[in-house]
Amino acid sequence: MKSPMRSGLPQFPDSLSWVMPQRRMFSLLVCLGVVACGAALLVQAPTFDPLDRVALPTLVLTLLGLQLAVTRRWLTIQQAAVLAYATTTLYFLLALDHQFRVFAPETHMLSESTYWFPVLYAGAFLLYPPTQAAWLAGGTYLVTLGLCLAHLLAGPGAGDMRLTAATVQFLLVSAVMIAVQATFGVQRLHLLAAREAAYRDALTGLANRRAAEERLASLAATGEKFTLVLFDLDHFKAINDVHGHAAGDRVLCGVGRVAQQLLPPSGMAARWGGEEFLLILPPLPEWRVQTLLNTLRTQMLAQRYGAIEGIMASFGVATALDGEHPDAVLARADAAMYAVKRRGRNAVLLAEEHAPSPQPAEPRRLSGARAGD
Ligand code: GH3
Ligand code: MG
Ligand code: MG
Repeated sequence: MKSPMRSGLPQFPDSLSWVMPQRRMFSLLVCLGVVACGAALLVQAPTFDPLDRVALPTLVLTLLGLQLAVTRRWLTIQQAAVLAYATTTLYFLLALDHQFRVFAPETHMLSESTYWFPVLYAGAFLLYPPTQAAWLAGGTYLVTLGLCLAHLLAGPGAGDMRLTAATVQFLLVSAVMIAVQATFGVQRLHLLAAREAAYRDALTGLANRRAAEERLASLAATGEKFTLVLFDLDHFKAINDVHGHAAGDRVLCGVGRVAQQLLPPSGMAARWGGEEFLLILPPLPEWRVQTLLNTLRTQMLAQRYGAIEGIMASFGVATALDGEHPDAVLARADAAMYAVKRRGRNAVLLAEEHAPSPQPAEPRRLSGARAGD
């Protein structure tokens, strides 16, 4: 299963991304918008409404331009979506004002472009968290309400009962849509919070084992190269026994903080088990891994937690070979880490490039990676 990650943790706040990958969703919405604008112009041919003749091609060009900007990565998907939303809202407000001036007094009803207002409100809740979306949708609604009232009271259609009834229905449906979307928005926030909690270790705030396993599964699916560092704190039980469980917790948090801070971009630091951590690193030269682990070990040694200092750990490092499944890489890192434990702890070993047997062969030490011994 694939899950988008940032800073080692799953990335959920982007509300578009949970429906489907954002880029595909944006492209789909641009396609729909372009088709809708084209269809609106087509049904008017050969005589075009003066607003639509200018506004619809402008909207199409804006949407296609934003799609290009997203494809070329000139804009982020969120920036492009916000601009698309603002442009579309502006068009529908202009179209509403225009129809009150031109068609509504003759037809005694509102035209089809008003059907799209609920889509605007839904879009606000798709793009923004519920509070911001409620402000945005509420603001758009108030502008719409003001426009409608101004035209019904003082426009060419003033006093037209059929037009008034159609407008009241339009405003009521819009208000109900905003309320419904706000309810869904709050429920979605709770869902996102639950998902976030499901992927985060409650004590250290690092990614938890589930998040790490999903990252490994996604690496298996894409075939990307990576390096795993599995490390287990040395003699941690003694810290608990001597200083208490709460002190042990503080040590775990401190180690997690240091590991997270030293991560390269797109790396993940996860709490794999009790006092065992897993780093999932992008492919790096061996010297970069050595430097990272030297710094990590030096900083762990230097940290003080009351009377506790000199935290050490045993590290196993394994880099994925061509076509190697992450489980096999993990097994090699695990074997290397346990070899360090057997040899006396507080060292880094690079895993052998073959699957570990039940009695694994001794891995080789990562040159120059020892610290504090
Ligand atoms: P070794 O060097 O062989 O790894 O020895 P160790 O003492 O670190 O390993 P052992 O497996 O004997 O003990 C691990 C300890 O980690 C026991 C357990 O209570 C403690 N531990 C596991 N999770 C937590 C936690 O969340 N908080 C605290 N404070 N301790 C924990
Ligand atoms: Mg331990
Ligand atoms: Mg352990």
